[in-house]
Amino acid sequence: MSSTVTIVQGSIVTVDPDRRIIHKGGVAVSASEIVAVDTLENLTQAYPDAPVQGHDSDLVLPGYINGHQHLTGDRLIQSSIPDNLAPGEAIFTWVVPVHAEHRPADDELSATLTLAESLRNGITSTFEAGTVAHPHSVAAAAQRVGARVTIGTWGWDVEDGPFAGTVDEVLDRQHEVLNSSWGPLVTPWVSLVGHNLMSDDLITQASALAREHHTKITFHMSPSTDDTAAYLERTGRAPLVHLADLGVLGRHVVVAHAVHIDDKELQLLVEHETAVVSCPWAYLRLGQGISNQFRHLDLWKAGGRLALGCDAENAGDLVDGIRTAALFAGLAKDVPRDPQGFGAHEALELLTIKGAEALGVDHLVGSIEPGKQADLVVHDRRQLEWIPASPDSVLQLIWGSDGRSVRDVYVAGRQVVSDGSVVGLDLKDLAAKAAEAGVQLRQRSGVPPASRWG
Ligand SMILES: [Zn+2]
Repeated sequence: MSSTVTIVQGSIVTVDPDRRIIHKGGVAVSASEIVAVDTLENLTQAYPDAPVQGHDSDLVLPGYINGHQHLTGDRLIQSSIPDNLAPGEAIFTWVVPVHAEHRPADDELSATLTLAESLRNGITSTFEAGTVAHPHSVAAAAQRVGARVTIGTWGWDVEDGPFAGTVDEVLDRQHEVLNSSWGPLVTPWVSLVGHNLMSDDLITQASALAREHHTKITFHMSPSTDDTAAYLERTGRAPLVHLADLGVLGRHVVVAHAVHIDDKELQLLVEHETAVVSCPWAYLRLGQGISNQFRHLDLWKAGGRLALGCDAENAGDLVDGIRTAALFAGLAKDVPRDPQGFGAHEALELLTIKGAEALGVDHLVGSIEPGKQADLVVHDRRQLEWIPASPDSVLQLIWGSDGRSVRDVYVAGRQVVSDGSVVGLDLKDLAAKAAEAGVQLRQRSGVPPASRWG
């Protein structure tokens, strides 16, 4: 039996219920699962034939969780949407036209790049944001790179827009996703665009569909004040108050953003145990007001369910969970001018176990414990930014590092990043295809030329 076990060594930041950090430790992995977590000495005695991976100075963590990530649309035009546009202009002059022109091969290429970058930065679980045109293509990309991914598809019953339809048409598309089978790592979800771009009938039925299938539903709401204004005009109530009245909220609901919410909405999120994904780089990139409206911290203080997200490659751009966690921790200190309430350790929890709890996958991932999936991130502490190593490795991880020191990554026991490279990917080939696809997409969608200088 011991011959099937591999040991990953280092200082093990378990994020288990006792928050143990095991120095000179190891994680024993068999097939897709963690079978033991202990000192390296004990593990090598228990599994004398097991190969030992890594270096004794490595820092080993549970794979990071990205609760909101667009896998299509932005990637092939990444960091191209100007950062000086009027509110909303990025969506309607760039994002929507580009999405409308995405062909299956574009979706697969885009998702391959985003998921490869995610893995390279230690993100092992990615929750797609609900704007995929060709879910099977995105699933193929996830399978190719070996990422753990949740996929939905476009869902909105507005009058026109890419992949818009009647309530029945939208639900048919959701059904098709839910009935797809993409292997153990790729899970279908219900997803709507959200905002004020869904009728009461659609969100009510879509929420019921997620409940029926024992899965989750995600949608966007209130990254800016626009949704509140629209709901007040249409329904006389704030968005989440209205959705609560419709019976839509619950543990099966994951709301992306919920930045501009009032006290009542915050209370409803807590009461209904509805999760929120915070994507702080997106709000800063788009100037949406997170630095004076940081309700995500209030939600966290109230015991609400919260995860972190990197959002999109033109709204946060770099797909790096550590960088996102550091920004969240900084805002959590700075906005209330309270350096004591929230810090690096709490931020790492959001990126791992708390994020997994919010997204309903903590039975599988989010911590290093026997019985859980072997989703592991190994930071190489021989790199310059880690010299010398701090006695508080979590403090150094969040404030003093980022994805660049990720050397090895495992998903379900399979090594998907080795020595800083995504296993099996030919970057030269991908680069050529992405450059060509990006040019074609710009032409077909008619987006404006992007460069301000030069
Ligand atoms: Zn989004």
